[in-house]
Amino acid sequence: MLTDTIGAISTPPGEGGIAVIRVSGPDSVPIVEKVFRSRSKLTQVPTHTVHYGHIVDPKSGERLDEVLVTVMRAPRSFTMEDVVEVSCHGGIVAVRRVLELLLRHGVRMAEPGEFTKRAFLNGRIDLSQAEAVIDLIRAKSDRAFAVAQKQSEGALSRQIRALRTELVELMAHIEVNIDYPEHDVAEMTSAYIRERCDKAIEAIAKLLRTAGEGKIYREGIKTAIIGRPNVGKSSLMNALARENKAIVTDIPGTTRDVIEEYVTVKGIPLKLLDTAGLRETDDVVERIGVERSRGAMDEADLILLVLNGSEPLDPSEYELMEQVKDRPTIVIVNKLDLPQRIEIGEVRERFGERIVSMSVKEQQGLDQLESAIADLFFSGEVASDDSTMVSNIRHIGLLSQAQSALEEAKTAAENGVPIDMIQIDIRQAWEKLGEIIGDSVGESLIDQIFSQFCLGK
Ligand code: GDP
Ligand code: ZN
Repeated sequence: MLTDTIGAISTPPGEGGIAVIRVSGPDSVPIVEKVFRSRSKLTQVPTHTVHYGHIVDPKSGERLDEVLVTVMRAPRSFTMEDVVEVSCHGGIVAVRRVLELLLRHGVRMAEPGEFTKRAFLNGRIDLSQAEAVIDLIRAKSDRAFAVAQKQSEGALSRQIRALRTELVELMAHIEVNIDYPEHDVAEMTSAYIRERCDKAIEAIAKLLRTAGEGKIYREGIKTAIIGRPNVGKSSLMNALARENKAIVTDIPGTTRDVIEEYVTVKGIPLKLLDTAGLRETDDVVERIGVERSRGAMDEADLILLVLNGSEPLDPSEYELMEQVKDRPTIVIVNKLDLPQRIEIGEVRERFGERIVSMSVKEQQGLDQLESAIADLFFSGEVASDDSTMVSNIRHIGLLSQAQSALEEAKTAAENGVPIDMIQIDIRQAWEKLGEIIGDSVGESLIDQIFSQFCLGK
């Protein structure tokens, strides 16, 4: 499968003292040799050695750059393949020309993350370690960096593996009792299942708590709650946060500033931004808030547009709908408890299924809203630009799913459900945990994860 040789510039774009081109694959050494003029013959040098020379276009004889070439032979390299790194010194133009030359001599341009993907496919790292590599590249704080580093060393993987081993033992134990029903040990088995499930549930809960603590240094999905004054934005935020942080009043325009709140909706961490009502205003204080909220809206990964269902649409709301209709948006038609006067057809025309009717006041429709958010996220329409989150959200989601499967197994055991049915839930938990480390994930997910990498990694 991995018979071709890939290459890319591995240092960040822009000016720098040196720039490194990384080449990986079975032909990396002979290909680089074709364009490398040096006293060393690359195909014969020992592994893990550095060689001085020049990159020369064999056709024109033109000297492109003065370089140092490092040879790392399989399997002792990042990808476990033959890897050659060319350190160029002539600046960004030279490095691009060197890469072009290599591409003409049989190197294929690497896709983003393809080096790390090869490391994964060749068995050098598991999926959660690969994701941690993304985190390491993008870590925005020292703390986030430390967490990512620990994960890339396999801390999470080890815990997940231990959990899975326990579940396999449990499944084996149950299997035995399915095979030998005459052993009349159903009673004992049920107690045993409950105990083992409890233990695993607690272990997962502990991992999830650790994830929860991370909210300070990790960014959530940036979610802007927008809409005219008095439609119920602050009330919605409070309902979602189940805390009363934002001040709710009857005077339009009293949300003067952008207020932030971190919440977790079905395992997805959101950073909610309650914005001042978006409208033209004379009030200076409010205007600052309005400007900020426009900024929040532009930056948002997800937009919750709140409309008041008990009033006809305002011209400014038509404008708002046009502004956000092509972005990841969920429209909330609020105040369902009052007689409805909104032109719902106009909203439907622009947002189709992405509309949730609710009454924040009567606490109606919150579940539908949470499901709509989760759907949008898991369908991939919403993604945070901070990939520290993306990898962690995936883990949190899978851990939660494994946990509920085990809860179901436990309840089933308590209710005397046949053992082979319980087995299905436990297997489900085992599979979900496996997805975290990449033991049971599909091709498309792998591609999705690796495409988050920057080029050259
Ligand atoms: P914001 O200006 O958009 O943030 O709106 P607020 O959250 O401050 O709410 C404005 C007013 O609408 C307050 O008096 C809320 O109690 C009220 N309100 C919010 N949601 C509902 C609802 O679902 N039904 C009704 N009848 N009133 C609501
Ligand atoms: Zn408000």
